Amino acid sequence: MFELAHSPAGFLSHMLGEALPHDLPLDAYEQWWETRGRAISSDVDRAGTAWIRQYDLMANRIDELVFPSGYRDMLLEGYQNGVIWRGFAPANEGLTAVYALGYIAGYYDTGLYCPYTVSLATAAVVDKYAAPEVRDRYLPRMLARDETVWQGATWMTEARGGSDLGGAVETVARQTRDGWRLTGEKYFCSNANAELAVVAARPEGAPPGVRGLALFLVPRYRQDGSLNVYIRRLKDKIATRSVPTGEVELRDSEAYLLGKPEHGIYLIMEVLNLSRVANNIGSVSLMQNALAQAYAFASERQAFGKRLIDQPLMRRQFEQKWLGLHAAFTLAWETVLLAETAWREQAGSYSERFQLFRIMIHLAKYWTAEQAVQYAKWAMEVNGGHGTLAEFGVERLLREAMITDIWEGPPHRQALDGLEAMERKGAHRLLFAHLAPYADSETLQDMQARVEAHLALAQDEKEASAFDLFDALAPFAASALVRKYEAIEMMAGRN
Ligand SMILES: Cc1cc2nc3c(=O)[nH]c(=O)nc-3n(C[C@H](O)[C@H](O)[C@H](O)COP(=O)(O)OP(=O)(O)OC[C@H]3O[C@@H](n4cnc5c(N)ncnc54)[C@H](O)[C@@H]3O)c2cc1C
Repeated sequence: MFELAHSPAGFLSHMLGEALPHDLPLDAYEQWWETRGRAISSDVDRAGTAWIRQYDLMANRIDELVFPSGYRDMLLEGYQNGVIWRGFAPANEGLTAVYALGYIAGYYDTGLYCPYTVSLATAAVVDKYAAPEVRDRYLPRMLARDETVWQGATWMTEARGGSDLGGAVETVARQTRDGWRLTGEKYFCSNANAELAVVAARPEGAPPGVRGLALFLVPRYRQDGSLNVYIRRLKDKIATRSVPTGEVELRDSEAYLLGKPEHGIYLIMEVLNLSRVANNIGSVSLMQNALAQAYAFASERQAFGKRLIDQPLMRRQFEQKWLGLHAAFTLAWETVLLAETAWREQAGSYSERFQLFRIMIHLAKYWTAEQAVQYAKWAMEVNGGHGTLAEFGVERLLREAMITDIWEGPPHRQALDGLEAMERKGAHRLLFAHLAPYADSETLQDMQARVEAHLALAQDEKEASAFDLFDALAPFAASALVRKYEAIEMMAGRN
C-alpha cells in the first residue's frame, strides 16, 4: 500500500474516487512533473533567491525578476492545466478541481503552489467585489488558458507585523478625482511580480484597528504603462523559492476599491480563507511526499539482515504515518468541500455554513501544517544521514514545511481566531452538528463538554491553553471525517 504514496494523482483517486471531478488532467499533470517538473523545481530551489533586474539599458525602472531557465514553463504548466480557470468554469469543475490540481503541484513543489493560491484568492475577490468594469477588464486576464495568463497576489503584512493587521497596516488609501491612490510599504509580498495584487490599506479618515482597513486591487502597471508597484528587494528564504517574496513600495499607486470600505476586514479574511484551504492541501501533499521519500529509502536499505521497512519498529511507524495521512487528508479536503459551498457568500450576510467553513479552516490549518513539519522531520530520520544532505532532496521538505506552518497565520493565530469564531458565532456547535453522523457519540459529548468548559475559562487562561484544546479537537474532527470517507469508500465498493 505504501507504494501509492509515490503518486499524488493515485492517492487523490484512492481517497475520492467518483467524487473527483471527471476529465481532470491529474495523471497527465503528474506525468509532466515526473518527466520535466521535478528537475526544474530542484534547480530553482538550489539556485536560491531569484534576482531583480531593476533597470533596462535605457535606465527605465522595470523590476523584472530573473529565474533559472524552465521556471516560467513550470509555472505555466499549472495555469494551463487549470489551477485557476477551472474554478470559474461551468459545472463539474469549480474549486474541487482547482484544489485537486493544487494537490499535485504542492506534492512536487510547495513554493510553486503559492502563486496559484494567491492568484485564486485574487480572482475570487475580483469576481465577487470589483466594480463591473474593473472585473470585466481584469478577471478574463486571470482566467486565460494560455501563456498570456495574468497572476494575482495578496499583500497584507507590513514591517510591524502580520498577525495584528489592525495595528500594523500603515499603507494609506487616498481618494482622488482620478480614483484611489495607495502609498505605503508591504513587507512580505509573495508573487511579487504578479500583474495584479489585492492590498490592505487604510482610507484617509477611516477608524483605527481592523475595522478601518479596506481592500484594493492594485495592477502592476499604471494606465500609462509605467510601473505602479516597485519591488525593493526579494527575501532570501529557507524555502518556497519557486515563489518570489519581496518587499514592495506603493507610491501613489493606482488602485480600485473592492466591495464596501467598511467590509474590508471581511474581504481580507475571505482571501485568507481560500489561501488557508490551499495551505491545508499543500501541507497534506507534502506529508504524502515525505512518506514516499521515507518509503523509497526504507524499502531498499538493509540493516541487521532485513530491509528497514521490515523492521518491526519502522513498520509500525509507517503504518501510523499512513493512517495519519488519511486523517489529515480528510480534514483538509473537508475545507475544500466547504469552500465550494461557502466561497460565494457575500460579506455582511454570511450564513452558518460560512462559520462552519471558518472553524474547519482554523482546525485544519493548525493541524495539517504541524503534521507536515512532523512528517518531513520523520522522513529525514528514516533516511538517516542521507536525510540531511541537500543532494537527495529530503531535507527540502522540512524547509518547505516550516513555511507552511507560518504563512497564512501561524498556529497561534489559528487557535485564537478559532476560539473567537466559537465564542462569537457558536462555530463549535456547527462543527459538532456537522461531525455527529460520523463521530462516536460518547467521544463527541466529551469533546462538546470540553469545549464549553474551555470557553468558560477566564480570558488569559482560555488563550494560554488554546493549543491544548486544538490538539484534542483537530484529531477528533479528523478521525470522525475518516469514518465519513470510509463510508464513501464502502458505498463505492472500494474497501
Ligand atoms: C515566505 C513567506 C511569504 C509570505 N507572503 C506573504 C504575502 O504574500 N502576503 C502577506 O500579507 N503576508 C505574507 N507573509 C507574512 C505572513 O503572513 C506572516 O509572517 C504571518 O502572518 C505572521 O506575521 P509576522 O511574521 O509579522 O509575525 P508576528 O505577527 O510578529 O508574530 C510573531 C509570532 O507571535 C505570534 N503571536 C502573535 N500574536 C499572538 C498572540 N496574541 N498570542 C500568542 N501568539 C501570538 C505569532 O503567531 C507568531 O508566531 C509571508 C510570510 C512568509 C514567511
